[in-house]
Amino acid sequence: RFAYVNGRYLPHDDAAVHIEDRGFQFADGVYEVVTIVGGRFADLEGHLARLDRSLRELRMPWPVKPTSLRLIMRELAARNGVRDGMVYVQVTRGVAPRDFRFPADTAPTLVLTCRRSRFQTARQLAEGVSVITIPDIRWLRRDIKTVGLLAQSLGKQKAAEAGAYEAWQVDPDGTVTEGCSSNAWIVTAEGTLVTRPASNLILNGITRLSLLRIARDLGIPVEERPFTVAEAHAAREALMSSAGSFALPVTRIDGKPVGEGRPGPLTLRLRAAYLADVGAPDPV
Ligand code: PLP
Repeated sequence: RFAYVNGRYLPHDDAAVHIEDRGFQFADGVYEVVTIVGGRFADLEGHLARLDRSLRELRMPWPVKPTSLRLIMRELAARNGVRDGMVYVQVTRGVAPRDFRFPADTAPTLVLTCRRSRFQTARQLAEGVSVITIPDIRWLRRDIKTVGLLAQSLGKQKAAEAGAYEAWQVDPDGTVTEGCSSNAWIVTAEGTLVTRPASNLILNGITRLSLLRIARDLGIPVEERPFTVAEAHAAREALMSSAGSFALPVTRIDGKPVGEGRPGPLTLRLRAAYLADVGAPDPV
């Protein structure tokens, strides 16, 4: 297995960065996870566009040209022989003596890893997954995909300990912001697909954007607005989206079934349409 660090492909176990990398000390870095399905990168353009935005928001330069990054991603996937899995791309501000202020002229650190993945089990797809709800304790720039993921890590751990797949984070006003590593959606009793609008309060998922486009193309009624946990409980369907989960049915929220407690038709239609759009069969 190979990883990429600042210009070199290294055996995964030997790949390392310096102890004074600002990613390590300040979580001063951004990342992307791009899924490979059937040998194809899913939504690659969207992920590169969001990486560009994250870098600009943190005033970091591109570590290599975007065209070079594409080549590195392909090369790493090929070297690892991955046809179903993901590439992880991380850029930090680089190595500098520990100081909160930005270093004057430090080269960014670029790290890529790649691994095989089965994404979900067949059972998770057939039965849907469960989520718990937790308070959203994150900062107010959730639109930047930074490596500062402690709140999400705590949330996912809590979900795992509760036997759930994901935790939906809830703002003090009672509205669901998003999952710890996914966006949250419901289908109302009227059949409208609802997800929170992009703002500083959520990460604008690339899968989210593609699903919105696909849903509109299919003529499915869509509303981008916040929804409450109570509304989710009363919904006909619930689902989550991310690069690795595509559109995945959520059939239990805090232990209570959503609708009839089975994956909903609209969710499954969106998942199929998304994968058709990527150009690959469902890997699950
Ligand atoms: N929201 C959060 C907080 C995430 O971490 C992620 C992905 O990891 C998403 C949403 C989904 O984004 P994407 O569809 O681009 O994977």
